[in-house]
Amino acid sequence: MLFNPLKTNNEIFITNYGINFTKIVNSVMNMGVKIAKNRISEFLDYLRRRYVLYAPIEKDGISKIGKIESVSEIAFLPYRTKISVKPIFFPPEEKFFKFQKKDGWFELEDYLLQIDEEEKAIFGLRGCDVRALEVLDRYMLSEFQDPYYRKRRENTLIIGLSCDYPRESCFCTAFGGMIPNRYDLWFTDIGSHYFVDIGSEKGRELVNSEFFEEATKEDEAKKIRKINTVEMEINRRTKIDLCEIKKCAQEIKKKANDPIWEELGKLCLSCGKCNFVCPTCHCFDVKDVTNIDGSEGERIRAWDSCHLYEYAKTSAENFRKERKARVRYRIYDKFVFPVMRYGVYACTGCGRCNEVCPAGINIRDVLRRLIS
Ligand code: SF4
Ligand code: SF4
Repeated sequence: MLFNPLKTNNEIFITNYGINFTKIVNSVMNMGVKIAKNRISEFLDYLRRRYVLYAPIEKDGISKIGKIESVSEIAFLPYRTKISVKPIFFPPEEKFFKFQKKDGWFELEDYLLQIDEEEKAIFGLRGCDVRALEVLDRYMLSEFQDPYYRKRRENTLIIGLSCDYPRESCFCTAFGGMIPNRYDLWFTDIGSHYFVDIGSEKGRELVNSEFFEEATKEDEAKKIRKINTVEMEINRRTKIDLCEIKKCAQEIKKKANDPIWEELGKLCLSCGKCNFVCPTCHCFDVKDVTNIDGSEGERIRAWDSCHLYEYAKTSAENFRKERKARVRYRIYDKFVFPVMRYGVYACTGCGRCNEVCPAGINIRDVLRRLIS
């Protein structure tokens, strides 16, 4: 059966991607459970003994998702990490294979075989990064299958965590809010406990362990209050109504000749930082690095950025020479083209690009202007 990315049948999603990440069942599976905070370390250690555990870590002020050897390494942050989850599945630079001339032929050593086939559990992922994985899956696991991404992405259990409060730049509520549709378990801090929503059969198996207890209606009410409070704070700053898929795309499509592009083109420095921090940007360049006579070398891919001058340079011409054209392209490649192609936005409102832009360009403000 062929996978149709526009079809929202999650069983098909699971069958064809072979990924243990899913089922929109939070509304179908009955009441959640809870876990006492003083048992969370024991649970995470239990998880670490069964899976290769990834979780937020922080060093020298830089937080990211990293592999955990001991539960004490985990940083319990109130919000998302500075660096997204993307490099775990799609590293900034990756060697595909090595080639070497031998007896008139080239011998290949495929580095795909060296990627560990590990069963991962990622604890502490936020809604923006879980949605970003869904976007990357669309690009890398549907029409064109990326075997390197796939090998890392398969067998990944997602145990998400609601934010306690947002970072200044966040605007996930424009794209559905803090809790995404697809996860295995979802934790929300409700005081002495975490309320736990169950999103898959794998998640259900985990909550059958000794660490969890049944949640009450009052616990669930606390969870809802918590989510509402944080999301209201995000909305207060964002001032963007929920972008209804297609409606927002259609609005932006009408603005191809808007003076905003000229204005942003003058500000943008074409540094590409916004692309590199984005959890959904997936463009890359491929090059062969060889020795002087070309008898051996390696094929390497590295992240690319649509803001860079060379990005659209071909042997015939550069079809996006002007900065304003590149700024517009990025916005269209977030809010228009992916909607037309896959029915998703390629932005999850994580706000990382807003934090790093040296020119002070804020995609939340750009979006607000475009759809107002
Ligand atoms: S475009 Fe900006 S806000 Fe949207 S997902 Fe990428 S980094 Fe986050
Ligand atoms: S980070 Fe800012 S200045 Fe740099 S390319 Fe992106 S929009 Fe332009």
